[in-house]
Amino acid sequence: MSSAETTAKKPVNKSGKYNFKAEVKQLLDILVHSLYTSREIFLRELISNASDALDKLRFESTKGTDFIDKKAALEIRVSFDEKKNTLTISDTGIGMNKEELMQNIGTIAKSGSAEFLKQITESKKDANNIIGKFGVGFYSVFMVAKEVIIKTRSFRKEDAAVEWNSNGLGTYQIKVVDEKLGRGTTIEIHLKEDAKEFAEKYRIESVIKKHSNFIQFPIYIDKEKINTMTALWRERKSSVKPKQYNEFYKSLTYDNDEPWEIIHSNVDAPIQYDTLLFIPQKNTDFFGFNRENYGLDLYVRRVLIQHQNKELLPEYLSFVKGVVDSEDLPLNISRETLQENVVFNKIASNVTIQILNHLNKIAEKKPEQYVEFWKEHNRVFKMGYMDFANQEKYLKLLRFNSSSSKDDKELISFEDYTKKMKEDQREIYYVIGNSRDSVEVDPHLEIFRSKGLEVLYLFDPIDEFVINSVRKYKDFDLKSVDTVDLEKINKFKDLEEKKEKTEELSKDDEKHFDSLLARIKKILGDKVTEVRESKRLSGSPSLLVNPDDAMSSQMQKIMRMTNQQVGNQKKILEINKNHALIRNLLKAFKVNSNDDYITNVVENMFESALLLEGNLVDPHQLVSNVNKLLVNSSEWYLKAKDIK
Ligand code: ADP
Ligand code: MG
Repeated sequence: MSSAETTAKKPVNKSGKYNFKAEVKQLLDILVHSLYTSREIFLRELISNASDALDKLRFESTKGTDFIDKKAALEIRVSFDEKKNTLTISDTGIGMNKEELMQNIGTIAKSGSAEFLKQITESKKDANNIIGKFGVGFYSVFMVAKEVIIKTRSFRKEDAAVEWNSNGLGTYQIKVVDEKLGRGTTIEIHLKEDAKEFAEKYRIESVIKKHSNFIQFPIYIDKEKINTMTALWRERKSSVKPKQYNEFYKSLTYDNDEPWEIIHSNVDAPIQYDTLLFIPQKNTDFFGFNRENYGLDLYVRRVLIQHQNKELLPEYLSFVKGVVDSEDLPLNISRETLQENVVFNKIASNVTIQILNHLNKIAEKKPEQYVEFWKEHNRVFKMGYMDFANQEKYLKLLRFNSSSSKDDKELISFEDYTKKMKEDQREIYYVIGNSRDSVEVDPHLEIFRSKGLEVLYLFDPIDEFVINSVRKYKDFDLKSVDTVDLEKINKFKDLEEKKEKTEELSKDDEKHFDSLLARIKKILGDKVTEVRESKRLSGSPSLLVNPDDAMSSQMQKIMRMTNQQVGNQKKILEINKNHALIRNLLKAFKVNSNDDYITNVVENMFESALLLEGNLVDPHQLVSNVNKLLVNSSEWYLKAKDIK
């Protein structure tokens, strides 16, 4: 129960005076001190509330609900008085009774203002820069008002009219009035001295044209209709001008930029529906705060049935904004039964396909432009890996950095990859890591490099989920470099013969090498399942590989990051017998198989390998080992240089 309600029931309150809730005061405080330039949006907010109230009334009437003042036209009227410095906005919408008024105005419920507050407080953004982008709601009126009076009468016969007033400084008053008010709400604003401009016709008119032109109810100043009211989505594409699209987009999203893409279509058969969709240039889902703020506006024969319907748009396309309108849905459809409606579901699945097709068209025809989209929206888009019905279209749209990219900006698709594959290559290889720099030192990649096999670089934690659920592109299996079957790789020819061939080990030394491997296993004990000779390394002394059935290293890391228990996944340590370090160890081993120095180096090598793949839990041991080696090497250095 909100505190507004609790207060309302206190019998002591005869004055009808109440306090705003704390968060409302906080919001008011920010708004009152906000910059001159963003102030005009208060009018957009009040008109949008009026329009919502009219939509709700129309919705009630399609359901056959009885209500008062049936003859009153659905409209918004704006009037002003330059002498008294007032501005008044009234609508014939659904209105409010006393309880609703206290509940809706006096608390911050689900409105854009709650989102706005969160952003301001959590990300310490500058209020002035972001006010315009949010539906900051009713309270924005206090940017220009020194006093506001609301008179409202609910559409229900039994409800009395109420009057509310406040100066926005912490309290408001409310009383039931006997006056014969008509249905709807009137908001009378007594403007601050420095906000006189909003009592001038020219200024009011230009603000309405700028922000509220596409409101689907007439807005009058005196007898003159100000807005165009065009249902742009129902027009034929050829008859709509770019400027109209842009204006509509801005009024829909409050975005200052123009849309990145416009998708407009009028479908006639087998189901009639119109869509007007926009893809914004910028991802507005800042830090996921705005998560719930998505969906398409659903109209039936130009009547708004639901704002931000979420069944029309899967979450991974939530960056798409716009409108869907159909002749073939019943006007009195309830929001609850929508999901069971066959026509609605057909439209919804078509909309998804339409968006994916459109993106694919751009990706193909204007790849540079597509990359802009990808950079901005990929985090959200990747979540589409669960849309199995459209997986083929989805997969074509994914982009990755790869071993053949010239830097971490250059991206390729699965399709690009397959075009460059070797003749009998049946697998697509990938590595998951934090950055290009970190994967490039990954010893797993050495063999791919020497064979000239391309490897996709996946830097985003979600990529692991995408790949794990997709598993295949066309006929090609997706294979992580750390779980790959070496035989399949080794059948490809080396790009060039290694420049300096390391001398082969003698038969005798081969035996010693096998004993060295056994010694290494003994040193590491349970930390590894096996120590064996590596067939894939060229530049590094050693490498950790997963046994076939193990979780990938990246998955282990993700689970650790998300605080899930991962028992120490044991791995196989592979040793490169041609590496200088291993050759030296072998020499020392032959002289004294229990040399402490070998233990020191092996432990260090093992922990460095863990560190490289991001699975070293405690770095202390490694650091103390490195220090031991450094002390030794400094002594040897002095000796070698004969420094005393
Ligand atoms: P939002 O519109 O995002 O819900 P607002 O602060 O703009 O937030 O408005 C709060 C609530 O007050 C609305 O949800 C609505 O219930 C009510 N309200 C505001 N203006 C009107 C109006 N003109 N007619 C009926 N109800 C209104
Ligand atoms: Mg509002």
